[in-house]
Amino acid sequence: MITTKLHPRLDNGINDYPEVKGFVGGTLKCLCKSNKVEVKVDSQTVHNHACGCSKCWKPEGAEFSLVAVVSRDKVNVISNADKVEIVDETATIQRHFCKECKVHLFGRIENKDHAFYGLDFVHTELSEDKGWSAPQFAAFVSSVIETGTPVSKMADIRKDLNNLGLPTYDVLSPELMDLISAKTAELNGTLQK
Ligand SMILES: [Zn+2]
Ligand SMILES: [Zn+2]
Repeated sequence: MITTKLHPRLDNGINDYPEVKGFVGGTLKCLCKSNKVEVKVDSQTVHNHACGCSKCWKPEGAEFSLVAVVSRDKVNVISNADKVEIVDETATIQRHFCKECKVHLFGRIENKDHAFYGLDFVHTELSEDKGWSAPQFAAFVSSVIETGTPVSKMADIRKDLNNLGLPTYDVLSPELMDLISAKTAELNGTLQK
């Protein structure tokens, strides 16, 4: 039983939008009624996950965002690019959003020394195309407290996420944390292969 509204794509289970083998991508659209910003993503995404941080775009009423990564060279704005602005140019992840409906279309890292340089962050729920990679884990779970979730609800939230088959982490998944530390080691000259 889901006791809180995690995200519209999670609340009924994660099987409503099954991942399709061989899926080659699709088009993300902002929520404007007309003149929608459209972003073409020419690849399947990876590392799709629920994120509780305060920076990722979340649909109305959702505790979590759903965010996946894809190679930045596969991401192209194909219509209404004039409506796209960057939320915060100083942030590590520059979130490109529609200035009218406020939806985030893609997040991009410009720091070449960052472990995730070359990858963009996208919300594939903005696409009507079916087959995108399924959520695998929940990240920055404790951070939902920062945006107003009572501490007393956290045990239930973690339980709900686990019941969906999503392991919960208060940073990123171990695999992604390993990549970040490996990049730091590479920059320090201490990386062992
Ligand atoms: Zn819009
Ligand atoms: Zn986030």
